[in-house]
Amino acid sequence: MSGRPEQLFPLFAGLETLDGIGPKTARLLAQTGLETPRDLLFALPYAVVDRRRRDTIRGVDLPKTLTVEVTVGAHRPAHNRGGAYRIFVQDSQTDFQLVFFHARADYLKKVLPEGARRVVSGKLELFDGTAQMVHPDHILPVEQAHSIPEFEPVYHLTQGVTQKTAYKAAQSALARLPDLAEWADPAQVSRQNWPTWADAVRAAHTPQGADDVAAFAPARERLAYDELFAHQLTLALARLRERKTRGTISVATGALQTRVMDALPYKPTGAQLRAIREITEDMGAPTRMNRLLQGDVGSGKTLVAFMALLVAVEAGGQGVMMAPTEILARQHLEGLRPLAEDAGVVLEILTGRDKGAERKAKLAALKAGDIQILVGTHAVFQNDVAFHDLRLAIVDEQHRFGVRQRMELSEKGQGADVLVMTATPIPRSLALAQYGDMDVSVLDEKPPGRKPVKTAIVSTSRMEEVVDHLRRAIEDGKQCYWVCPLVDESEVSDLTAAEERFKHLRAQLGDGIVGLVHGQMPPAEKDAAMAAFQGGRTKVLVATTVIEVGVNVPNATIMVIERAEIFGLAQLHQLRGRVGRGHDASTCLLMYQAPLSEGGRRRLEVLRETEDGFRIAETDLEMRGAGDLIGTAQSGLPRFQIADIERQAGLMAVAQTDARALLASDPKLTSERGQAARVLLWLMKQDQAIRLISVG
Ligand code: ADP
Ligand code: MG
Repeated sequence: MSGRPEQLFPLFAGLETLDGIGPKTARLLAQTGLETPRDLLFALPYAVVDRRRRDTIRGVDLPKTLTVEVTVGAHRPAHNRGGAYRIFVQDSQTDFQLVFFHARADYLKKVLPEGARRVVSGKLELFDGTAQMVHPDHILPVEQAHSIPEFEPVYHLTQGVTQKTAYKAAQSALARLPDLAEWADPAQVSRQNWPTWADAVRAAHTPQGADDVAAFAPARERLAYDELFAHQLTLALARLRERKTRGTISVATGALQTRVMDALPYKPTGAQLRAIREITEDMGAPTRMNRLLQGDVGSGKTLVAFMALLVAVEAGGQGVMMAPTEILARQHLEGLRPLAEDAGVVLEILTGRDKGAERKAKLAALKAGDIQILVGTHAVFQNDVAFHDLRLAIVDEQHRFGVRQRMELSEKGQGADVLVMTATPIPRSLALAQYGDMDVSVLDEKPPGRKPVKTAIVSTSRMEEVVDHLRRAIEDGKQCYWVCPLVDESEVSDLTAAEERFKHLRAQLGDGIVGLVHGQMPPAEKDAAMAAFQGGRTKVLVATTVIEVGVNVPNATIMVIERAEIFGLAQLHQLRGRVGRGHDASTCLLMYQAPLSEGGRRRLEVLRETEDGFRIAETDLEMRGAGDLIGTAQSGLPRFQIADIERQAGLMAVAQTDARALLASDPKLTSERGQAARVLLWLMKQDQAIRLISVG
């Protein structure tokens, strides 16, 4: 099947082909991304209004939206421009008023002639003791009143589109619903008692009460499942393709690895050994590795990464490790250097800062295979960077990349194995959504002897006390990070806050021992500031969040975070992970600006209670939501329209198992259910997945 299935054509037509939608409305809807009848069907109502007809308004608690049959009484036009035009009406037991502003009298006389019977529906409220309905939503002659839905779905609206239009649009899209063959696992469908897809869509748009718009309504759950299943099918197809791609076989001789292991001043943890074994096995296999290495800050990912790079070198090839920032790339260089010396391999760095002759020389060495391990930023994947024999690409701090970027990356390296590292512990449901195409190694064990970080929550009003403590700690030879927040998302105020704190601390603690590093600094100055702190020449490093990930200064035992309440939990956890890396006990001060909200306090308390990154991440997810957690746009985490990834984590797991099982039995999606699943992919606009099957 190379094109969209014909059954779906009506759903992918222009919106103006729907009854009741003109070009203008179509344009307005398109502005919010609703471009086809299909889009309308997936834009489910978020509430429902009970418009069942009643005899009288008597006895109803106001304000309330209601529907009632009335006899139209006298009209009382507005006294002045902008005044209220009132029409007295009477139901079976009592009377009230219909109120209009800026209405034309001749129009009102036509739709509400005195003495006529009408059904009106709208919000009735009390105003000065009089019940009135301002601008009813519906006014219809009794014989047409059946067109008012008993339960009216409420849609999210675009500017310029009314509920009525949205309703009509959805209804006419429903009229085009094709019956599609079942793609979900039949056992799952019958166990959950799910309707078919078409019935589910219909039911979701015609709720018969509040329960029907809740996430747990069977129709909604089924549609959520379809969404998750399509996503997991895409990931599973990507995984299958990766595995099928002839990878390079990189067989470890162990010669270099052993040298490094023997020289280590410590013993690797069981988790490190397990991860190294999993990676080494993958790299030796003919399928291409596509593996995620997940480990909290300080869990020792660097050693694992280096051992993987050594496999590439032992097999006669090269490895590359890419970090998201310049600082981190340099940090990796520093971390890997002693290991590289033990192994006797050539390690180099390439970043955007390399220019001219020096860059040329590095590229030539890389191409000749004289550089065996390269670390760097995105610069390592520029077009003119060519390797002699690239066998492994490691991407660090991967949460900033999505599935698509991962696929692009692996396309660069002609079958090179891919290892992605993340220090952000993510809850299982998110991991499934984001990394469902990969195999996973987890470093769930920290190197022994790590002292817990004592965490305290302190108000900024106690700044002086904090600085006093700091002064004494510095006299004892300790070092401190001082993190200033990103205020207003604006680089400028971000900077001001850090610069001001820098001046303040310099005045309090003395010249020359306080350093400053921020994102706007020229690179050379940034390096110098980092180096001065790492070398112990500066005792306090005031920083914006550029130090967030990866930086390693074991002698730094104090972490002060200003305005901690505006940081994300995961970010705070990462920042705190900068201390507690040496032999001495460490402290983290979370400073907040009063008043602290209830939620703010709870979040900071979680940090005080635990250093378990996974527990913190789960709490974060609970309190903030998935999109927020990693920043949907930059995370590569898909935006689900119907599924709620926080509350439907279980459904996500089922979807993954189901998708992988379907592909295991029908890798080309040619069976009856496979064909149905293809239709689902089209329906869900999973173009990428569709390409994968047509290519494969
Ligand atoms: P991360 O996972 O955050 O990248 P690193 O690889 O930077 O962690 O390791 C943090 C520190 O722990 C480094 O100083 C490293 O030398 C040390 N380390 C790594 N593995 C062990 C181990 N098994 N035992 C003791 N120390 C270790
Ligand atoms: Mg690291």
